[in-house]
Amino acid sequence: MPPATPPPTPAPSSSPSSSSSGSAPSQSPPQSPSPSPSPGVLAAFEAAKGFMPRHEGLALYAAAADAARTGLPLLEVGTYCGRSTLLLADAARAAGTIVVTVDHHRGSEEQQPGWEYHDPELMDPEAGAMDTLPVFRRTLRAAGLEEQVIAVVGRSPRVAAVWGGELGLVFIDGGHTDEHASADYEGWAPRVAPGGLLVIHDVFPDPADGGQAPYRIHQRALASGRFAEVSATGSLRVLRRTASAPARTE
Ligand code: SAH
Ligand code: MG
Repeated sequence: MPPATPPPTPAPSSSPSSSSSGSAPSQSPPQSPSPSPSPGVLAAFEAAKGFMPRHEGLALYAAAADAARTGLPLLEVGTYCGRSTLLLADAARAAGTIVVTVDHHRGSEEQQPGWEYHDPELMDPEAGAMDTLPVFRRTLRAAGLEEQVIAVVGRSPRVAAVWGGELGLVFIDGGHTDEHASADYEGWAPRVAPGGLLVIHDVFPDPADGGQAPYRIHQRALASGRFAEVSATGSLRVLRRTASAPARTE
């Protein structure tokens, strides 16, 4: 988990003002605006426990809406309490596809007791361990998105090892050690279909801003020649799978 992310930069206003009266030009065709999550889902996202600021969430939603047009499932590594899952699910619902979200639900290193991102409300006293699954399920049900999401409880590399199909989008937001980030990249990036998107969270080129593991897999993806950057919003990077060569990672 990074230190506090920089405050969101206000989105430039691209829509024509509706306040001007009769003289408003009407000849310019409306620009297709970035797709937005439904208001109820955006409110649920903002209320959910998690680590993604709104401006990054909107960029994630736009990527998901783009990738969902492939008709293929969208996959997330790092469910936590479902904050980002809600946006993926909303985009999937609009396009008639689904989200698979993977987490062992025991928390990342920095979320364990005594660490900076620990939330004591997420402890299971019987297990003596974190358990984010119940909160995730409540979040999803309250937003009415249960039908759009398949939750897989397990370690990301183990799930990747038994996963067979292509994906429209892979969103990597799991463990932030090199070991975990590399395994997520190696396990899931090859599953992104040509034209699909690889999205990586917590990419900090400057070590002063946060850990480097997500940045290193971002660099690997670009160096592989199979992905090209589409957008960067805060620490969220969106890459498109360009090559139709066999999906391998070096
Ligand atoms: N996407 C969430 C935040 C995810 S936090 C949001 O936007 O709110 C990172 C999550 O990754 C934690 O819930 C942790 O349990 C999970 N995680 C870390 N390493 C993992 C691994 N190897 N396999 C599966 N889940 C993992
Ligand atoms: Mg993150």
